[in-house]
Order: sequence, then C-alpha cells, then structure tokens
Amino acid sequence: HLMEFAIIGAGMAGLACGQRLSAAGHGVRLFDKGRGPGGRMSSRRAELGGKAVQFDHGAQYFTARDERFLRQVEAWEADGIVAPWPAAREGAWVGTPAMNAPVKAMAERANVTFGARIEGIRAVGTGWKLCGPDAPREIFDAVISAIPAEQVPALLAASAPEMATLAKQTVSDPCWTVMAVFAERPDLPDTLRNAGAIGWAARNASKPGRGEAECWVVQGSPEWSRTNLEEEREAVATLLLEQLKQHAGGTLPELLHSDAHRWRYAMCGDAGEGALWDASRHIGACGDWLHGPRVENAYLSGWELAQRVLDSA
Ligand code: FAD
Repeated sequence: HLMEFAIIGAGMAGLACGQRLSAAGHGVRLFDKGRGPGGRMSSRRAELGGKAVQFDHGAQYFTARDERFLRQVEAWEADGIVAPWPAAREGAWVGTPAMNAPVKAMAERANVTFGARIEGIRAVGTGWKLCGPDAPREIFDAVISAIPAEQVPALLAASAPEMATLAKQTVSDPCWTVMAVFAERPDLPDTLRNAGAIGWAARNASKPGRGEAECWVVQGSPEWSRTNLEEEREAVATLLLEQLKQHAGGTLPELLHSDAHRWRYAMCGDAGEGALWDASRHIGACGDWLHGPRVENAYLSGWELAQRVLDSA
C-alpha cells in the first residue's frame, strides 16, 4: 500500500531514495537544514570585485561504476548538468555549472523544505511526527534518515536505537577546505593529491563550465584536518596556502580572496549494510555511511533503501 514518507536530509542519498519512492506512487516530503541544495556536494559563492565566483568546496568529482548509477549519470549528462572532468582522472564527472547541479535538479522535482532542521521523531499512533522548531505538523506513515552517521544518533536514538548504535560505530574523517582566488594561474598542475598536509588541491577553473577566475580548492589531508580541527579559519587558510606555495616552487600569484570551511564529517566509514529498513516500524536509513564514502555510494544507498521498501510493501 502507498505511504506518506518524511525523508530527513536532501543530499544525494535522500533525493535518490525519494525519487524512486515517488516514482512508485508514494508521497514524499524531504527536509534539509541547509539553506540550499547540495549537502556534501555543495558549492560556495563569493563576491570578488562585484563579480560572483564559485567553488566546489565539498565533493570534487565522482565516478560511476554501477549500472544503476551509470544510467542516472547518462540522464544528467543528456540534461547538461554533469560533464566529464578529464583533468582529475579518466571517468571523473562533475556537476555543471557547479557540483551541486545534479542534487539541485533532483530537489527541483521533489517536495523539499530547506532551512528545516529535524531534531527527533516521535511515534503518534501508527505514524511518526517530526520534532524540532522547523518540523511540520503532519503525521507521516514512514520516516527515513538520510544524514551523515554522526548526526543519526540525535535523530533516531529514541525511536530506532539499533540504527543509532550502528551509526555511532561509524567514524568519518574531517576535512578542512580552503577556497582561494589568485590574480593569475599558479605554477601548478590542475590537480595535486597526497602532497604532505594537502590531501587534494584542484584548479576549480579547469572543470567544465566554470568561469575564468583562478579559483582553487585546497583540502587538508584527513590526518592534518584532524590535528588542526579546532584552528581558526584564517589560520587554516594561511597554513594550507603556505603548503601550496611550496609545491608551486616557493611563489604564488597575488591572493585576491581566501576562506576556509571545516567539514567535520567529510569522508565516512562504511557500515556495510547498503541501507536499513525496519518494515514493521516504517523507519529507514540511507546515506554514504551505509554503502561507502562516495557520491555513487550515497546514490546507491538511497536506491537500495527504496528497493527494500518496495519489496516489503
Ligand atoms: P549529505 O550530502 O551530507 O546529505 C545529508 C543532508 O542532510 C545534508 O544536506 C544536511 O544539510 C542534511 N541534514 C543533516 N542533519 C539534518 C537534520 N537534523 N535535519 C535536517 N537536515 C539535516 N565523494 C566522491 O565521490 N568524490 C569526491 O571527490 C569526494 N570528495 C569529498 C570531499 C569533501 C570535502 C567532502 C565533504 C565529501 C566528499 N565526498 C566525495 C563524499 C560525498 O560528498 C558524499 O559521500 C555524498 O555527497 C554523501 O551524500 P549523502 O546524501 O549521504 O549525505
């Protein structure tokens, strides 16, 4: 029978799940605490001399190996919202004009409320009510958690303790990310990986459909990010750009803009379940932490959760 679902988290996993459930006729509403679409595939804008510049400050690119995700990527490519990025590696895809494009497109076709942080769920009869100041009044037949592992216990500890316990055992690596704009192109290749404190650096402008500005994204390695997790943003930007300078032969062009973003939970562990669905209580969970630390895994986790729901109906 058809149900009304609330999905908490409108990143790749939640949207992929919602897309399949809606296609099967279920009612789906998504709630996301973020201001706009993307989750960990977000893009950040900055003003520079009256012009907007943009950085992919979360996921850098994604790959597609599984047939189910490949079909989705082909559809996105046909819609012009993803394109290959050969500078990173063969088989690398990025959203265009920014990384969040596929998530944004999925969100536009779904019923998503942004700016809505959900703090818990409460049983009401045979249904569920969402808790928190931004929660809607309605009662749902089923609830799905599609948020990072570390945030799951707060949402589900009371209603699905076994899911919360599994999530607690899954630990993510943090990632400090510096966004910088230079006046000219630095003497560096388009991408750098595993270079001391720098886990990854990329010339955002080398991605398809980006502007002319010399925008760079520099990520601390997981170890460096963990050691420096509580540093100030300015200090992190200075330290990682100093590292970048060393890789550029000791000089960098004039710095026009810099900022840093701390991802506390960037690359997740893998609980190895694919997805979780409790068919008697109508509670489910999906997200990269159940499938693997990548965009493709997040999609597949959402896809698999929808499959479990459809199989159990
Ligand atoms: P998310 O994208 O995190 O979505 C969860 C959503 O839930 C968010 O939008 C959040 O706002 C919302 N939310 C959380 N709590 C609540 C709440 N209480 N109430 C309401 N909403 C809530 N993957 C790759 O494949 N390639 C890469 O190169 C790559 N690089 C990465 C680099 C960085 C810096 C980061 C951070 C990640 C990277 N990843 C990469 C991983 C990839 O981004 C993730 O695996 C994927 O985007 C996870 O999708 P998700 O839907 O599971 O979670």
